[in-house]
Amino acid sequence: MTSTKERMAEAGSFADRVKQQADIVRVVGEYVRLKKTGKDYSGLCPFHQEKTPSFTVSPIKQIFYCFGCGKGGDVYNFVMDMEKCEFPEAVKVVAEKCGIAIPRQKERSPEERKENQQRSVLVEIHREAQSFFVKQLEGTLEGKAARAYLEDRGLSKDAIERFGIGYAPSGGDALLRHLKPKYSDKLLVDSGLVSRDQNAGRLFDRFRRRITFPISNESGKIVAFGARALGDDMPKYLNSPESPIYSKSNVLYHMDRAKEGIRRQDFAILVEGYMDAIAVALAGISNVVASCGTSLADPQIKLLGRFTKRVIVNYDPDAAGQSATERSLALLLEQDFEVRVLALPPVGNKKADPDLFIRERGKDEYLKLLKDAPPYVDYLIARARQMDLTTGEGKLRAVNFLLPYVQKIPNRILRSEWATRIAQQLRLDEPVLRAALSKAATERRSEVKTKPELVGRAAKPVERRLIRMLAEAQGFRQELAKQLQNAHLYHGLETEKIFAALVIATLSGQPLQAAEVAAALEDRDRRLLYEILFEEANEPTWEEAMSCIEALQHRQAERELADVQRSIEANPAAPELRGLLEKKQQLMRRLAAAR
Ligand SMILES: [Zn+2]
Repeated sequence: MTSTKERMAEAGSFADRVKQQADIVRVVGEYVRLKKTGKDYSGLCPFHQEKTPSFTVSPIKQIFYCFGCGKGGDVYNFVMDMEKCEFPEAVKVVAEKCGIAIPRQKERSPEERKENQQRSVLVEIHREAQSFFVKQLEGTLEGKAARAYLEDRGLSKDAIERFGIGYAPSGGDALLRHLKPKYSDKLLVDSGLVSRDQNAGRLFDRFRRRITFPISNESGKIVAFGARALGDDMPKYLNSPESPIYSKSNVLYHMDRAKEGIRRQDFAILVEGYMDAIAVALAGISNVVASCGTSLADPQIKLLGRFTKRVIVNYDPDAAGQSATERSLALLLEQDFEVRVLALPPVGNKKADPDLFIRERGKDEYLKLLKDAPPYVDYLIARARQMDLTTGEGKLRAVNFLLPYVQKIPNRILRSEWATRIAQQLRLDEPVLRAALSKAATERRSEVKTKPELVGRAAKPVERRLIRMLAEAQGFRQELAKQLQNAHLYHGLETEKIFAALVIATLSGQPLQAAEVAAALEDRDRRLLYEILFEEANEPTWEEAMSCIEALQHRQAERELADVQRSIEANPAAPELRGLLEKKQQLMRRLAAAR
């Protein structure tokens, strides 16, 4: 994310000019069906599921806000969230939508330029390799055998095409010969598609006699391949090595096509291999991604976390899959994901991965199990119950297996419930084990995290009104800010930080950028500010402003009176008692006069 500071520094820049020319209603309208309601527009929020519109756009203030989920900001915030991109990209998108020519990028350093160039050539090599592999599958004798295998796995011609599945022939240098005329040996080796023989220094194809699956990065560019042996060659699955354009811990298979569905449904299904992801996607469930054999890595979780915080893990049921599930669980929980685990029942006497299960039992059955997938703790208890619980040692092992997960449960009450449940289910009545669980339960540092909630009528009407005037009353916002500032009128209020931010922004003399003021606030204050800005309100007048100020003065006097009274009571014999009593009289007179 680009910080507000960096964005402020962009003032007067290209981004600023684009923002002035762009109409937020028009840009948002390309993503959301908007209806005019009074001065504003409203529609169904694209960031959370809802049936009645709580998503609002203000053409006057050029901001949006959702009363349901609290997302809000300017046209760039909107595009950044919708397109899941960074600020510079959002500026580009908005400029393009509004037909504003984009200035040429400033020249980079020679090294950067060279690296960029190398990366784009590597992407080009992958594109060429992709069409080469596809042609091999379609048009060669060897490819025919591969097609038969794929058909046997239930993949139709359409499906093969849709996922760009191809074939790397057995010859050993077919791709190399295809690419060699256009690219240097070094680039080909860098791409990972060609390897160099250690002894003879000879080049050869990395993938031979394998079915190929293109692996795209999040924006849909092919950056690597996964390849499955057609015969009994080992390893069964072979992936591209790390390269300047591919790092396996940064990429999730199928992410480029899943992200829309993940965002819409607010959860993702995580499977192990590309065949699983393909099977699930073909069953009409688009929000599926694969970690590609390796267990999940932190950058992959962060990538996923940009789209949802809810995951159903559906790894293979074998021992490797189970331990991958458990490792992934720990990582996901650390990143505050809400995790469920789908452990598929065996099909006949075969352990079922998603691919096999959907082929044999159909997608409806799979969907049903997916819907009922239990929270991860249930899964873990079931796993622990498979351990030998007849001996004290075995029980201890089961507890030690569960403890780290229990500790990661963010909610204290839930944690203690789980502790009780685990003790019951595993018949762990030994006081020592119970103590271990409850100790684990209390050792967790972070407190119960509260869900974001509507701020509602947290602030008093007078404060809300003044905040609105500071943001909008073109005629007198400067004067109003000065008065509030000089008399310290907003100090100690619940809305103090909002006032402070608005007063500073107003006194700077610049036109107010509400979204920027909001972005610098903490979440709760930010939401409150947006709510206030979208409230039904009359045109502000200076008289009204003055009466609000009087109300604040009154409250200030009341607070002071209470303070004085406390000091008097705390120490009636103090030498300054006389002064305090005088102050009290003064304040009481002031309050009486105001009535
Ligand atoms: Zn929303």
